[in-house]
Amino acid sequence: MPIYEYECCNCSEQFERLVFRSDEAVCCPKCESADVQKRMSVCGFKSGGDKGAASSRVGSTAASGCSGCAGGSCSTCH
Ligand SMILES: [Zn+2]
Repeated sequence: MPIYEYECCNCSEQFERLVFRSDEAVCCPKCESADVQKRMSVCGFKSGGDKGAASSRVGSTAASGCSGCAGGSCSTCH
């Protein structure tokens, strides 16, 4: 069962939701707004809105490697 991350466009609440169907309506658990945005793990934001808030939060530095290898497997990492 796929779990997707969502971010509310109204109150910026971030939550995860089990989605059974891709067209299932998802509401914010905090303010119950239906204006939520699915956050993809890859850089593929659906920029369809006209609110100007396109790519606000992108998980950039998730890797815990050193500056030399970025993978955590070279001789400087350990
Ligand atoms: Zn909300």
